[in-house]
Amino acid sequence: MVVLRVFLHNLFTAPISSITFDVRLGQPSQHRPGDQAAWLTFFDEDLPDHMIDITFYGVRGSTPCCCPSTMGIGGNTSCVALQIDDHEPVLLDLGTGLRYFGEQLRAQETGAASPFRGTALVTHLHWDHVQGLPFFVPLLRDGAHLTVVGPGQVGSSLGEEFCSFVKPPLFPVGLEVLPGTVDFVEVDNGQLAIDGAQIMVRPIEHVGETNGYRITANSAGSVAYIPDHQQPIDNPTLVRPGALELAQGVDYLIHDAQYDNDEFAQKGEWGHSTIDYAVEVAAQAEVGTLLLFHHDPAHDDDWVSQAGNRAVDLAAGRFDVVVASEGLTLTSGGSGASESSINAGDVAGEDLRSVAGN
Ligand SMILES: [Zn+2]
Ligand SMILES: [Zn+2]
Repeated sequence: MVVLRVFLHNLFTAPISSITFDVRLGQPSQHRPGDQAAWLTFFDEDLPDHMIDITFYGVRGSTPCCCPSTMGIGGNTSCVALQIDDHEPVLLDLGTGLRYFGEQLRAQETGAASPFRGTALVTHLHWDHVQGLPFFVPLLRDGAHLTVVGPGQVGSSLGEEFCSFVKPPLFPVGLEVLPGTVDFVEVDNGQLAIDGAQIMVRPIEHVGETNGYRITANSAGSVAYIPDHQQPIDNPTLVRPGALELAQGVDYLIHDAQYDNDEFAQKGEWGHSTIDYAVEVAAQAEVGTLLLFHHDPAHDDDWVSQAGNRAVDLAAGRFDVVVASEGLTLTSGGSGASESSINAGDVAGEDLRSVAGN
């Protein structure tokens, strides 16, 4: 049985585990599937049981938004933190929400705390998915290390692209000035293992080179992350094989839900999905819970809440639906996935989150 609890203000109390490699900022390296990087092994590890905390630090698409009408859902852009037992954190994208993840880590640090070590699975390089990196305070410590996994680029490398926007005059200093280190790993399509989890990577239809990810931690469950996904313009029931493979049977699907059908009629080629299409993907993949994500900055809390209600109606009890909002944490664990339950009692702003019973 899988038990799903929903609450705010997760505390990252888990210790950071040991390091495996070290590449200075500004000297990016790239590994492709098949490379023999020390930490990167392919699906042959037998991992023990795990628990996963999934915490949302940024849930917006496109650009940050900050006004009273959007504060319930939150205005920061894409950043989700996965904490699997006491392994190194896994970040999903590096949008402006990353700053708050870093602030939370710093607030919990004690004098003897180890420098940050973690991995970021970056879907693509649009601003709303990378803008938080230079504001990630844990990188201001010697010994801190972040591995950034992302898609290969046309005519340059992943590391070169990051270094090209974190430098003067776009930012006061270059990445190489920070005490911490960042390593860049290019993966477009494949499977790999990181500390405590197995990762499936598939290219996703969007605008430019884009990945989707599936993170599996054995009995703790699995999470699929597809925040920017071009819905097929003329076929709202077509789910392409890569996206379907990532999401198939997953416990939690975090999916693009930027538009309603009227907006899609106007912006159908902008690389995103409707609420209805997010439900379609979740239904075809037979997921446990759909998390509506990448909310449009033009949508206030009431709009997003109503979108959640529509998704609940469309899901018709086939799976749970949750509107992702800043500060939300889902915790899963157990063995097998035959049942799930949600305790909504601890969630502030409960009207902003829609839950369909299983
Ligand atoms: Zn985006
Ligand atoms: Zn994008």
